[in-house]
Amino acid sequence: MKAPISPVRFLRDAAVFAPCYIALDWASYIDPVGPFNITPWNPQPALAIVWMFLGGLQHTPVVLATIFIADVLVRDAPGGYLIAAVTSTILGVGYATIAWLLRQFLGQAGLRSSRQLTVFCAVVLGGTALVGGAFIGALRGAGVFDEVSIPAAWLRFWIGDAVGILVTAPLLLAVADSEQRRGLFALARRLETALQVAVLVATMWLIFEGLGGDPREHFYVLFLPLIWIAVVGGMNGAIVATALVQLGVVAGLRSEAAPEFPVLEIQALVAALTLTGLYLGSMVDERGRAVESLKESLRLAAAGEMAGAIAHEVNQPLTALANYGESALVVLGAGGARTQLATIIEKMLREASRAAEVVRRLRELFRTGTTHLEAVNADELARSVQRIAHQLIGARAIRLQLRHDGELPPLYIDRLQVELVLRNLIANAVEALSTRLGPDAAIDVHILREGDDRVRIVVGDSGPGLAASTRRRLFEPFFSGKPTGMGLGLAVSRTIAEAHGGSLEAAPGPRAEFHLVLPCTKTI
Ligand code: ADP
Repeated sequence: MKAPISPVRFLRDAAVFAPCYIALDWASYIDPVGPFNITPWNPQPALAIVWMFLGGLQHTPVVLATIFIADVLVRDAPGGYLIAAVTSTILGVGYATIAWLLRQFLGQAGLRSSRQLTVFCAVVLGGTALVGGAFIGALRGAGVFDEVSIPAAWLRFWIGDAVGILVTAPLLLAVADSEQRRGLFALARRLETALQVAVLVATMWLIFEGLGGDPREHFYVLFLPLIWIAVVGGMNGAIVATALVQLGVVAGLRSEAAPEFPVLEIQALVAALTLTGLYLGSMVDERGRAVESLKESLRLAAAGEMAGAIAHEVNQPLTALANYGESALVVLGAGGARTQLATIIEKMLREASRAAEVVRRLRELFRTGTTHLEAVNADELARSVQRIAHQLIGARAIRLQLRHDGELPPLYIDRLQVELVLRNLIANAVEALSTRLGPDAAIDVHILREGDDRVRIVVGDSGPGLAASTRRRLFEPFFSGKPTGMGLGLAVSRTIAEAHGGSLEAAPGPRAEFHLVLPCTKTI
């Protein structure tokens, strides 16, 4: 429970709570059973429960006293003061228990997910059923309630309290929460909201006045605007819409034209409508949050992929820098010539700017998809393949078979990006081979001419190959057949190939064989 609040705050809260509670009790005292507070619409318990839920159970005595005073002021304590005191205690303790249970199960988070909503509904429906039973049992025990049917009175009390709380408590909780309040204000400022409210009000007018007859007959039409509002506005929209429906229903029931309406059944329909709206709203919100968190993980994964690529690519110049640094020290120690030192420092600067260039280009690719095209000799590319494969294979017993057709035109590509693709393909091949290293474990890379202005680079391996189910999803982002794989390598590689105006495909057949086609002339 919260720490006790200051007496001034306590009195101030009580001075706001008590009149509001009494006013709500007075406004909702319609269609009672006998002279008692057994009506089909009771929003005031929601006020008590939300106050105790947010502020703590120290408010219970004020709640008890207010319920008693309301009974005296609104109904003139029909069973006498003693019975009013007993029933007020039953209600006050019952509502405090509901508030306590909600605090236990919902925490301070309130109603955010459909799971929390289910807990809220279960506690409210179960709690009000028990409170109703105790309330009516006490009246019956005191002998002031003999002439009326107990089950009907209990049902009326239960539906009245349950609907009152289900509709009003979410609204009060939303208003009390600063973030949700901002959401409500944002919703109120939208033009579509005004249209939705107008449609809702018009529908209610039609049901209670326009179409004439029993409002239950056309009540189902109200589900349409409610669903529209919940789908567009989420939980906040649903909360406001159900509160408006409840107010509209009460206004309709109080109108001159409607003295004979079956209030209880209409309230049961309001309960069904409210639950539909709240669940739909919470699911819409949950979906929105899931989309946001997916976007966030996509951003993180892309950042991770980029970090991996940068680490790979920058490692080489960094190692070279360290080596040159060491040679410089050796030259210095041996009293070497200035020209020798200057050559080493020049090489160091070249490596440093190469590292910086790698980082810059990769960042640009991931951010804007920009490529820096240049003519790259096929022999140069073959050397890159050799270097990358050498690094990735390390000490493993894997052979690299590199072939390339003699006369190849220079490629027109972003060398760093294409090296990244080759690195991904070769890394996948090495990993696939590592799962069952046999004596003939080999990766073969074949560079060949494709028509007049293209080059095809085929990377295959003698590993287990691609299962049909894997093949179908190879290029999907986040698809990975490895326990720790990120599943972005092939997706990013295809993006790079296509950004060049080329393509990346897996060849049909069981063998793992990837075909990278790149242009030799300016195609994009
Ligand atoms: P990751 O390597 O992070 O899993 P990739 O997009 O690079 O992501 O690869 C996706 C999946 O494709 C791999 O997890 C693997 O199951 C399959 N795959 C890719 N290349 C090969 C290959 N040469 N042999 C077998 N399976 C492969």
